[in-house]
Amino acid sequence: MASNDSQDQESRRIELMDHEFGVEKELEEESEDEEVEGWDDWEAENDDVDEGESSDTDFLCFFCHSRYGSCDALFDHCSSSHHFDFRGIRTGLGLDFYGAFKLINYVRSQVAEHRCWNCGVACQSNQDLQNHLHETVNIEAINPLLDDERYLKPFMKDDSLLYNFGEDEEGEDDYAVPIDKEELIRDLKNYEDISIDDDHADTCDKSGVKVVSASNEKNGVSSIEHAGSTGGKLKEIKNVNDNYFGAYSSFGIHREMISDKVRTDAYRQVILKNPSLLKNAVVMDVGCGTGILSLFAARAGASRVIAIEASEKMAAVATQIAMDNGLWQGKIPNGGFNQPTGVIEVVQGMVEELDKSLQVQPQSVDVLVSEWMGYCLLYESMLSSVLFARDRWLKPGGAILPDTATIFVAGFGRGGTSLPFWENVYGFNMSCIGKELVGDAAQTPIVDIVDNLDIVTSSAVLQTFDLATMKPDEVDFTASAVLEPCFGGSSGSITDDLESLTTLCYGVVLWFETGFTSRFCKEMPGVLSTSPYTPKTHWSQTILTFREPIAIASEKLIGDRLAAVGTDACPATKIHLRISIARAAEHRSIDISLEIAGFGPDGRRRKWPAQLFSLR
Ligand code: SAH
Repeated sequence: MASNDSQDQESRRIELMDHEFGVEKELEEESEDEEVEGWDDWEAENDDVDEGESSDTDFLCFFCHSRYGSCDALFDHCSSSHHFDFRGIRTGLGLDFYGAFKLINYVRSQVAEHRCWNCGVACQSNQDLQNHLHETVNIEAINPLLDDERYLKPFMKDDSLLYNFGEDEEGEDDYAVPIDKEELIRDLKNYEDISIDDDHADTCDKSGVKVVSASNEKNGVSSIEHAGSTGGKLKEIKNVNDNYFGAYSSFGIHREMISDKVRTDAYRQVILKNPSLLKNAVVMDVGCGTGILSLFAARAGASRVIAIEASEKMAAVATQIAMDNGLWQGKIPNGGFNQPTGVIEVVQGMVEELDKSLQVQPQSVDVLVSEWMGYCLLYESMLSSVLFARDRWLKPGGAILPDTATIFVAGFGRGGTSLPFWENVYGFNMSCIGKELVGDAAQTPIVDIVDNLDIVTSSAVLQTFDLATMKPDEVDFTASAVLEPCFGGSSGSITDDLESLTTLCYGVVLWFETGFTSRFCKEMPGVLSTSPYTPKTHWSQTILTFREPIAIASEKLIGDRLAAVGTDACPATKIHLRISIARAAEHRSIDISLEIAGFGPDGRRRKWPAQLFSLR
């Protein structure tokens, strides 16, 4: 499953986001960190970075004009002089990279208006504000504010803090605190109920009363208002869903999915060739579309197939198709008899909303099947719907098809960009277009086929999900990978004498595989791969382009010790990546952050500023 509203079938090079953040423009002027020190892992880094190439006073205080040489020093100062304990707040709120990034921009934006970041009170001057600042109260109240995507845009130009704040801390990933499910639901509810007053100045609660959140009311400042359950956020999600399911009402998408032979055959094989799993089984098909997977399940001998589809149009179509093929469960009048015909029942609605209307006992389904995968696996977030159905209806020990999903990553060379195409257009040089596109691609993921000859590094597993056991909140993740130069194809060398030994890595490509493993598919396990090394699928691959290419060497060449790592004078022999993928505040889209470090042959490391991408 992978839909795109615009359905630009002619060009598979789909730019998925109108760049909104403007982050990278600001980042361009960031200094890069380079240091002579061994690499253990991302968390083992320390202040040397700041004391190396950065100036001694890179990090400006949120509240006064003091500058510090490291984030840690700045945070210590803010905590002792201004009652602002960034690290404590980050831990307390369990903020991930994005959350912490937004917190910095949020606080800076408040200070610019002489407003207290914590209680919202407006002061006359910066001095008044500094006098006013107090111990943190009710930090939970600022959590909803951090959902606002405007804080992903750097508030202050060249704010070094934004791209270094994680470096001083050990075990940054520890911020991924375990989430209490009830608390999560409560938080989600709050999130839906709260909006910034600028946008919803006149919204009221259910009783028609304008509600001001406690922390602000105290100070007479109404920066947050509860919008009530019919408020903006819910409307926004409803609109997104209307567009999303509307898109699935178009037959073009279903034709594209069904004609993707790699995809449809993978499901067909495992459903038809695992009789011990499917025969007489109760099957639930989450997001049945045309009902193709349900039809396979019925053919495989399932005793009951519950096909769930949110799109009204497609639910009606799936019913018709099941009837036309004699596989519908309803009774069809036949010469005076009402003859039961098949096993498929189509239920229209979002799986999350069917609880009461669905005539299915909790935990009574033997096999849950769904084709839920989007671009870059997680775009469109249908995985959460599948996990919802799993937790509600799948029997303990029941099968889920597919049962694993793995995201892979590898580096690509020049051929993976649009540069070669624009260089020679019917004999004319249009490379200015190629350059502009490559610049844009450092902010916007591109969904396109990457030729495996253009891969210039080893491939690595970025993340694996076990769909039978994973928790819903594990859909968002941060993971690391190491790429080693590995080329020899058509990528082109950069130096004559080192011809076959060096090349440029322009970015990384992501793809996924889903597994139908022998855990459930005993007779015939299967894999559905969207790799550049296997036949192409409608998911293509997802391309994240570096802001500047990194020279890499396939052997340990003695590089110039004074040259920057990743340049042709000192190619990198390894690239370390850290990638986070998180569902964005805007329902169904995802945000991706990419952090890169290159290692020289002498162990020197160079880091590049983090890049943010958004698939929407
Ligand atoms: N199973 C079909 C269609 C896959 S596309 C096939 O393999 O060809 C995914 C389908 O899931 C779409 O038709 C979409 O409308 C539906 N869908 C997405 N989220 C859903 C949800 N939460 N509840 C019910 N249906 C959903």
